[in-house]
Amino acid sequence: MTATRVLVLNSGSSSVKYQLLDMRDRSRLAVGLVERIGEETSRLKHTPLLGGGTRERTGRIPDHESALKAVAEELDRDGLGLDSPELVAIGHRVVHGGQFFTEPTVVDDAVLAEIKRLIPVAPLHNPANLTGIRTAMSLRPDLPQVAVFDTAFHTTMPESAARYAIDVKTADEHRVRRYGFHGTSHAFVSRAAAKLLGRAPEDVNVIVLHLGNGASASAVRGGKCVDTSMGLTPLEGLVMGTRSGDLDPAVIFHLARVGGLSMDEIDTLLNKRSGLVGLCGDNDMREIRRRVDDGDEQARLAFDIYIHRLKKYIGAYYAVLGRVDAVVFTAGVGENAAPVREAAVAGLEGLGLAVDPALNAERGDGARLISPADARVAVAVVPTDEELEIATQTYALVGKSG
Ligand code: ADP
Repeated sequence: MTATRVLVLNSGSSSVKYQLLDMRDRSRLAVGLVERIGEETSRLKHTPLLGGGTRERTGRIPDHESALKAVAEELDRDGLGLDSPELVAIGHRVVHGGQFFTEPTVVDDAVLAEIKRLIPVAPLHNPANLTGIRTAMSLRPDLPQVAVFDTAFHTTMPESAARYAIDVKTADEHRVRRYGFHGTSHAFVSRAAAKLLGRAPEDVNVIVLHLGNGASASAVRGGKCVDTSMGLTPLEGLVMGTRSGDLDPAVIFHLARVGGLSMDEIDTLLNKRSGLVGLCGDNDMREIRRRVDDGDEQARLAFDIYIHRLKKYIGAYYAVLGRVDAVVFTAGVGENAAPVREAAVAGLEGLGLAVDPALNAERGDGARLISPADARVAVAVVPTDEELEIATQTYALVGKSG
């Protein structure tokens, strides 16, 4: 029997999201989530997709190891346990892979050490990702564990896009450069966009707008990323749910020197109390649109700032690419918020960009075009699927060994 199942784990600081896929037909066998790990109110929600319905466990799950053990027990109850010979590998989302992890990588001690070395540039994410990998290794030491990095897709950026214009020696000493994030999504979506256009990824130039709670744009030339809006950390670039995106770095000095805020307070301000939530108190685009429709001026301004930034990146990446075949919207906001898509390309007819109002308003599950039939540049909605992409990359790397 050929082993064809891949378990995908996305370990956050207090949560673990997981999916078990069968790569023969890329179907999902089970999906689930453990949240509030370490609190009294932990919860595991498990859904076997071959029938049986969602099951929930509540009550304290003290740490990631207990969380993964609980997940393994749930999978076991469905006959999908971690000891199944059909399981070929576990694929882990790792947020920061630095400059050198350009591909998915089978985890060994050296890889673990490098992910650990990157903690200073990803203090919120890499420790949790590491814990997830170590725990999975302890449960199935014989099974390949594959790290799939959010940064990998962006390692093709030329130095002109990847470097900040600061003293080179200082930058290199502290690994200060633009790494980019959401790479798994940008890779998946740019490829899916080429497919939607009926062309090979090598032949198309695409601007991908990943608009979720976190948001980033990328310029993809012939399947390779040449620029992206997030930088050293996921704070740079677009206006996000709670993050400011781009600002004059002197704002930080000003808040410290004149405002008397500590570095930690500024960090929290820019990452957690800025973006849409900072501008209008809400970070859910559904709520913001409802308020805009009710005539709320604060929500209107937040929406306008969000769109203004988005439009600037579309223009910038148009210039970076020279020729654009498609602008693609993805993630929670990009896939669902028709008014965001409409406003982002409004007035860009001179660049060959437009949306057809009826197509834009239609709801649908799959990838679809929303530009008029005669448009010079395609505008599309492509649902992202980071878990499927992680499973695909994991299986491509180790599938044949199963
Ligand atoms: P992340 O993975 O970054 O947490 P998602 O890609 O799931 O985020 O996107 C979540 C966001 O998508 C929500 O905060 C909300 O703003 C937006 N969203 C989800 N559904 C809709 C919808 N129907 N209309 C508008 N915005 C939506």
